[in-house]
Amino acid sequence: MQFENLNISEPLQRALIKEGYKTPTPIQAEAIPHLLKGEDLMGIAQTGTGKTAAFVLPVLQRMAEKEKVAAPGVPRALVLAPTRELAAQIDASFGTYGQFLRFRHAAVYGGVNQGPQVRALSRGVDALVATPGRLLDLMEQGHINLKEIEFFVLDEADRMLDMGFANDVRKIVSALPKKRHSLFFAATMSKEIGDLAGRLLIRPVRIEVAPQATTVESVEQRILFVDQNKKDALLLGLLQQKNLKRVLVFTRTKRRADKVASVLSKNRIRSDSIHGNKSQNQRTHALNGFKSGRLQVLVATDIAARGIDVEDISHVINYDLPNEAESYVHRIGRTGRAGATGTAYSFCAADERNFLRDIERLTRGKIEEMDHRYHSEYAKNAVGSAAKPAPKRSRGMSRSARQEGVSRSGPRKARRPAGHR
Ligand code: AMP
Repeated sequence: MQFENLNISEPLQRALIKEGYKTPTPIQAEAIPHLLKGEDLMGIAQTGTGKTAAFVLPVLQRMAEKEKVAAPGVPRALVLAPTRELAAQIDASFGTYGQFLRFRHAAVYGGVNQGPQVRALSRGVDALVATPGRLLDLMEQGHINLKEIEFFVLDEADRMLDMGFANDVRKIVSALPKKRHSLFFAATMSKEIGDLAGRLLIRPVRIEVAPQATTVESVEQRILFVDQNKKDALLLGLLQQKNLKRVLVFTRTKRRADKVASVLSKNRIRSDSIHGNKSQNQRTHALNGFKSGRLQVLVATDIAARGIDVEDISHVINYDLPNEAESYVHRIGRTGRAGATGTAYSFCAADERNFLRDIERLTRGKIEEMDHRYHSEYAKNAVGSAAKPAPKRSRGMSRSARQEGVSRSGPRKARRPAGHR
């Protein structure tokens, strides 16, 4: 299968050739023909599958077919994404794939001054990528009107719900015209996701690629049992190995991300952290440093890491195991992309033992254990109350998740209770 068999227009093909894309990925090959016909789509696909091009290409092609120019503040295509990073990346994809087309695109997201975004909107934007909070703010201020939307894409819908954006999404959808072409993407399927898709889509084609348990096959996974107070030493030890060139380290909280990054810096390891308490500029700086190779290690929380699209991540290290098994799959999927093999090391302390059990259930396999000098038999054999985190009055999972995402002042209701699995 080649791109030309998909009836992709010449300017888009030229851009793909320039980017070095030779063949469409499975989601592209399956989705693009339906989307060019104007059919609604429900796509179950994770980041890394090529899903962004699967919707950006047909949206651009169909927009170009009707030679219409967007009026100031009245976009023709809207892509909703849960995080700033993802929004910025999708916006960049519009620029890349549409480099030989005449159209305007922009991203609006929180955490940065709205001035430049408002100015871009006032010049007219055909394709707008937005996070829900900032989009609603700008709509309320009269800078954006969605009445002319022809294409609506909801990306990472499951993460959107996890972050408590259900109401915002509903409000945004109610401002869209009824007659539109709608696309919906989620990494996982659930009843809630199905219900939301049911409300947004009309007779959608359903395409599912790389089901969760198989996406991790190209990643070599190891579990390292260790006590919490030995995790730093274990991490420093691992990072001494020569082949750990570009390493993404995950922690469960923003505070722990900062703590780990500071331990690494003190040990002269080129590292930085990204999470929702950092300004957009700080995040961009860290991400660029990681991409360029200036940094060996990037420490991140789950939500900040969503949509990080960095090639050649050699290793993912789970300094903390995630409390949601799905996150493990997302995390390790950051390495071993596009046919390359990657390695994921996961630290498991006694109070994370149950998380490991959940992960092994989801991925349907036992993760091979790796021996090391800080090995803890206690962690390995923990059961009962020792195998889970000590109860806290408020675990605040949803709240921190929200803070990681689009910043918008004022409280926001979370959909699920703290620590829900
Ligand atoms: P995504 O799943 O949209 O985040 O895309 C994952 C990565 O795959 C991005 O770095 C894309 O630039 C890249 N990519 C997307 N489509 C193709 C393709 N057909 N051939 C090669 N790389 C691709």
